[in-house]
Parts: sequence; C-alpha cells; structure tokens
Amino acid sequence: MAQAPIPFNKPFIAGQELTYIQEAVARGKLSGNGYFTQQSQQFLKARYDLQHALLTTSGTAALEMAALLLDIRPGDEVIVPSFTFTSTANAFVLRGAKIVFADSLPNHPNLDVDQVAALVTPRTRAIVPVHYAGVACDMAPLLALAQTHKDLFIVEDAAQGIESFYHAQPLGAVGHLAAFSFHETKNIICGEGGLLAINDPVFAARAEILWEKGTNRAAFFRGEVARYQWVDIGSSFLPSELNAAYLWGQLQQLPQIQTRRMAQWHRYYEALQELARQGCCALPFVPTYARHNAHIFYLLCNNQRERDALIQHLGQQQILAVSHYQPLHASPFYQAQHDGRPLPHATAHAGRLVRLPLYYELSESDQQRVLTAIYQFYTGGSAS
Ligand SMILES: *Cc1c(COP(=O)(O)O)cnc(C)c1O
Repeated sequence: MAQAPIPFNKPFIAGQELTYIQEAVARGKLSGNGYFTQQSQQFLKARYDLQHALLTTSGTAALEMAALLLDIRPGDEVIVPSFTFTSTANAFVLRGAKIVFADSLPNHPNLDVDQVAALVTPRTRAIVPVHYAGVACDMAPLLALAQTHKDLFIVEDAAQGIESFYHAQPLGAVGHLAAFSFHETKNIICGEGGLLAINDPVFAARAEILWEKGTNRAAFFRGEVARYQWVDIGSSFLPSELNAAYLWGQLQQLPQIQTRRMAQWHRYYEALQELARQGCCALPFVPTYARHNAHIFYLLCNNQRERDALIQHLGQQQILAVSHYQPLHASPFYQAQHDGRPLPHATAHAGRLVRLPLYYELSESDQQRVLTAIYQFYTGGSAS
C-alpha cells in the first residue's frame, strides 16, 4: 500500500491568521507600518528584550539593513561562518565587503568562536554569528572582541533563533544588531518576512529612515516633523500589513507552536539515542550556554556516502529528509575570492548532516514512520 508522502516542511495556520488578514483589509490599510506591524513589533521587542524592532520583508532584508546601518564599504572585512545561507554573506557583499569565512566547531555547525580572534584585522567591521538550528553561538568572546576593536560590531543572524537563549539572554538581544526570519520554513512564519533588532541606540534613528525608503516618514506619522522628506539612502524594507497580520496570528500562538515543536524534537532525540549509542550517527549537540527552540532536528551521519544513502532510503518510503548548506567558501560565486584556508569542519557538516521532517502539523504516527525507516536503514530492524 502506497503511503502518503511526509514532506520536510509544511506551512501552517495556528490561530487567527486568516481573520487578521481580513481585518487588515477591513481597516483599509494594506501597505506597511500599520496596526499589525505595530502589534508584532511591540510584541517581539518586549518578549525578547530588544531596544528597537522593525519588521522587514525578509531575514535577508534585515541583514541588508544591518550592512547599511554599519556603513559597510568596499575594503571592509566581515567575518561570517562558511556553513550558512547565502544571505548572511551576500548582505555584506552587496556593500562591497570582503567576506572572511570562519570554520564550524568540530561537533556543531556553529562557528568556532576560538578561531575568530585570529581572523580579525584593522579592517574588520562586523562578525556575523549564525545560531544554527536555533542553538546559540558562544557570544561572550565575540562581544569581547567587539569591545577591544574600534568600529567592530556583532550582527546576529538569528534567522533560526526565535525563542532561543544564550545563557539567560534571548537570541537577537545579544548583538548590536540582529536579524530574524519568518520565512515559511522557520518556526514562526508569515510567508516571507523578517525583523531587524537594534540593540545599540546609535543605530535607532537611522534604521527607521533606511526602512522607509530614505525618508523620515515614520517620524512624520508620529507628528515629530511637519513634512516627510528624502533625508538618507534607504529602500523598501517594510512588509505589507497582510504579512504582518498573518504574523500577528502566529505570534499569538507562539507558546503553543513552540510546545508542539519541542515535543516533536524530543521525540526524535529520545528515540534515536540508541542508534547514537551504537555509533550509527550523532545526535544534535547543545552546549550548556544554549537553550534551543527545536528549529531543526538533524543527524550527523558518519560520512557523505552514508548520509546520501539514508536520504535515498527515506525517499523510497515517501519521507523527505534533506541535507543543508554547501560551504560558502567553496561556492561557485565566492570560491575565487576566498583566501584559500581549508575549513574542514564546515565541509564535514555539509557532507554529513541530514535534517528530518519537522513541522507544526507533523503527527506522532508520521514521526514514528520516520523513526522506523531510520532504524531499518541502520539495523535492518524497527524502532521500539
Ligand atoms: C532563513 C535564513 C536566512 C534568510 O531569511 P529569509 O527570511 O529567507 O530572507 C538567513 N540566514 C539564515 C541562517 C537563515 O536560516
């Protein structure tokens, strides 16, 4: 009997998303910075202890705003992990920056913070830690580097980091600037969307201007200036109220969404312990300073051949499991500009990592099907 496919990800409705979209239409304002934008921004700012928060059209757009705010110019250097999404680096390349790639930890895709100090030069303007799978990077040493170097800032790529913590501090509140994403593959979604967190007051006023196409329109709407004018560079970084309405519906269900995801993540983790104990594959490592958000559940296979065979085995049973990033230092676009250092741990993670289906509507029985198929692959048997 053919079984229904289990996708890797599935966009979902958790509460009042569609009602709020109708309400946005009824309110007669569909462009940005209306009621639902304000509600979402205030909620996120308060919940994560952010100094300022601006909704953006994507996590990518939030990173691009960060690069503009830091006034990144040709010749500036930006330190980025190689094992990440293109936008982490591309946002700075758009400003002419040279990307200096950092390797991953041996036991985690996150960048190896101990190696970053050696990459800092007088031209380094930013370090962009990516909290992979919502697991915090070790931020204290990075913040210390920023303090001891003039004009060096920390931009968190917290695209996957909503509801995660570094010690007691929410991700997104730790760096000078931070980017969240609400892309449909993330924990909290609105189709395409993001948030720029601004935790250093020097960036606050300008952020609002860049956000509003280089105008002081936000200040005008607050009644602070008599007319709005073109005062700086900028772009269309703010999302429509339709997206913000969907997002507001999700944010109101945030605890429920997270409870469900955490339960799914732990179900995988508990059930796969035995395989890890037998050395078949490694389970996700979470350092003691990190509290994660169940964004991704991945396995680290022993090598790429085994990983690809596992993906194929699951595929034959209509289960979509997927690899993740190809290291950017070896990408067709940037390889020639990379300084040539081998980054063995980023390369190893690219070859060994496989992500299992994890989404709001994933049922316990479908999860059991995934587990059974994995046990079958490794032991020929089934999960208990
Ligand atoms: C998703 C993601 C982005 C980009 O976010 P978008 O909202 O899709 O533009 C950037 N960095 C990381 C690490 C991501 O996971």
